[in-house]
Amino acid sequence: MNILVIGSGGREHALGWKIKQSDKVENLFFVPGNAGTSEIGTNLEGNVSDFAEIKSLILDNQIDLVVVGPEVPLVEGIHDYFASQPELKNLKVVGPKKTGAMLEGSKDFAKDFMLKYNIPTAKYFTVSPGNIKEGIAFLKTMKSPYVLKADGLAAGKGVLIIDSLEEAEKSLNEMLDGQFGAASAKVVIEEFLSGVEVSVFVITDGKNYKILPEAKDYKRIGEGDTGLNTGGMGAITPVPFATPEFMEKVEKGIIQPTVDGLQKENIEYNGFIFFGLINVNGDPYVIEYNVRMGDPETEAVMLRVKSDFVDLLEGAATGTLNNKNIEIDTRTAVTVMLVSGGYPGGYKKGKIISGTDKAENSIVFHAGTKTDNGNVVTAGGRVISISSYGNSMQEALETSYKNAEVICFDKKYYRKDLGFDL
Ligand code: ATP
Repeated sequence: MNILVIGSGGREHALGWKIKQSDKVENLFFVPGNAGTSEIGTNLEGNVSDFAEIKSLILDNQIDLVVVGPEVPLVEGIHDYFASQPELKNLKVVGPKKTGAMLEGSKDFAKDFMLKYNIPTAKYFTVSPGNIKEGIAFLKTMKSPYVLKADGLAAGKGVLIIDSLEEAEKSLNEMLDGQFGAASAKVVIEEFLSGVEVSVFVITDGKNYKILPEAKDYKRIGEGDTGLNTGGMGAITPVPFATPEFMEKVEKGIIQPTVDGLQKENIEYNGFIFFGLINVNGDPYVIEYNVRMGDPETEAVMLRVKSDFVDLLEGAATGTLNNKNIEIDTRTAVTVMLVSGGYPGGYKKGKIISGTDKAENSIVFHAGTKTDNGNVVTAGGRVISISSYGNSMQEALETSYKNAEVICFDKKYYRKDLGFDL
């Protein structure tokens, strides 16, 4: 089978790494990929939002199965486009169609869905320019801190958590006035929930699902979870507080009703659902849905999937997931992200990366890298994700941290305290 992975991050490299282990794979392609993916497959030039261009690549390379890594093409309807093209009628696609992708593409849609299917989530009210008064009245019933969310995709930047009511009112107006462009034409006001977050992933064909290993990611740039939010500085799986009892609550109260709800809404869904959860005194609540795998969680989670991953992907794409088994490695897996100094603010690209071939006992996934004149150089904020197994979290982290010193580039930075709160 020929497989195409769409995207260019550490997530896509990790998906490709796992896919490559399957006997079912003949050729593996990435569009556009990065310097790391070119070592395990073929990078094809193309823009993930140019569906016609991707269609040509699929036809030229006789692709049988496509995995869509990032959310933007899904929310823009890449699966619907493929489904509308007669030449692609045999193509298997992992990633939901536009209506399913609304779970991530519109927070208002997701909250409505959760309310309708009784899925635990923070109380909320959706404000648009027509009901600002009611919105402010709802805001006043909330306690500090106040949570304001742009309805649409805002690259992880559309959520504001504000201490004072006055500031929150001001921000609400600014958001509705276009602070995040069309994404904040509507704003969801939410009750603030206090607890530790955990990411739970399932692969589903819209009826059946398999639960992948859960993970905890570290979003802040600074140690002790301080400073600005990033795309993610590392991840750990399993998560100690995600006990069998907790996970049963997640499955019964959240996963099952979500998949059932999709069916009741007649929403076909072939792909991943990423439940961003928060543990409030032992009970899981949904903070957000994402319609793809997480990055950097995938760089840890893939290490713990023992089953043939292509078999699972095929099952999800063709509605036959009920016939598949998922086997999980009981070891701990972690990933530590090396980033460009200055990130998530400004930083320089084009720094030569050395030592990736000298890292021992870790799996090195590339994120923002590219090949330039025979050198591998930095091409983004998040550069390299170093993943390791261990019999304990400490052991796995120790291996990744050792290799974080072996891999070098000018102004490299990484967090040295992952797992501090577990
Ligand atoms: P991402 O960075 O995953 O793309 P996003 O922009 O889609 O995020 P959310 O995940 O909804 O937005 O919120 C971002 C972060 O804000 C959450 O990970 C969480 O830490 C915090 N947050 C969001 N909603 C709440 C809430 N109701 N109570 C407490 N914290 C919250």
